[in-house]
Amino acid sequence: MHQNTQPYLSLVVPCYNEEAVIQLFYEQAIKTCTSINTPFEIIFVDDGSKDDTLKIVRQTANKDARVRYVSFSRNFGKEAALLAGLQAVRGEYIVTIDADGQDPLSLIPQMLEVVVSQGYDCAGARRINRKGEPPVRSFFARRFYRLMKKIADIEVVDGARDFRLMNRKYLEAVLSMPERNRFSKGIFPWLGFRTKWLEYENIERVTGKTRWSFWKLFTYSLDGIIAFSSKPLAIASILGIVLFLVALSFIIFIVIRRLVYGDPVAGWASTISVILFCSGIQLFTTGILGQYLAKIYTEVKQRPHFIVKEAG
Ligand code: UDP
Ligand code: MG
Repeated sequence: MHQNTQPYLSLVVPCYNEEAVIQLFYEQAIKTCTSINTPFEIIFVDDGSKDDTLKIVRQTANKDARVRYVSFSRNFGKEAALLAGLQAVRGEYIVTIDADGQDPLSLIPQMLEVVVSQGYDCAGARRINRKGEPPVRSFFARRFYRLMKKIADIEVVDGARDFRLMNRKYLEAVLSMPERNRFSKGIFPWLGFRTKWLEYENIERVTGKTRWSFWKLFTYSLDGIIAFSSKPLAIASILGIVLFLVALSFIIFIVIRRLVYGDPVAGWASTISVILFCSGIQLFTTGILGQYLAKIYTEVKQRPHFIVKEAG
């Protein structure tokens, strides 16, 4: 029925083990999009779910021509899922939104208005509080945003979600970034353009629980830093210079003491601790080098971002 209509609005929905919420999301999304009164499409990306997500998505797509789906051969992560969805869209304006109800669909009309009539290229949603989140997590999140700004010259907006609406020009720019190590929170600000942030209060998941453990978030932040800053590499050089200066003053001190007082050089413990200290720093800095090397390795292999098992 709607198949031949060029959609105006495209929704990209990454889903990983979301069987419990997809139907509800679908119904609400249809409601919202219908109220805007333009042709639209919804693209579900099943990120290798282990539950019945694919089945539900497939059924929905078979029933409703405005719904399409892409399903991965295994879990490739949300960034890959978003990319697959963005590559598949046909609409003029594109929304990326989570399936779990944490991103309020009700913001979409406002976002559309911002991009269509106010001259912005992107409208993003920003949580103004972190209700329902462990305080430790919020604390580290804040530190991370600060650090990014300092060392990567990228303004990762605090509380910014992957819930955004963009125009075609913006979409093309996102798709032109070929990297494997995709860190959206960095890619978007790196692109530039004009983004308007719409604020809302944090909403907790409808059901299920977040896929993010603290450890996952931690390594994700490290990936972000490595992807957008080479400053950590400078740590090795700076530490090297500092240690060199310390060693130099030590040598001068020892030589003078020998000449003036004639003391024999003593101190087994101090020698060992200096050796340990220096080798610790060496390992630490080699580790930083290794992190960059590992990222370069994944980039040069040029593997696809994801493998599609099924689409419809
Ligand atoms: N997601 C995904 N692949 C993953 C993890 C998550 O596609 O490997 C999807 C998930 O289904 C949801 C969205 O990404 O629609 C956000 O995930 P989640 O709610 O776990 O993250 P949070 O909202 O806590 O940031
Ligand atoms: Mg969520």
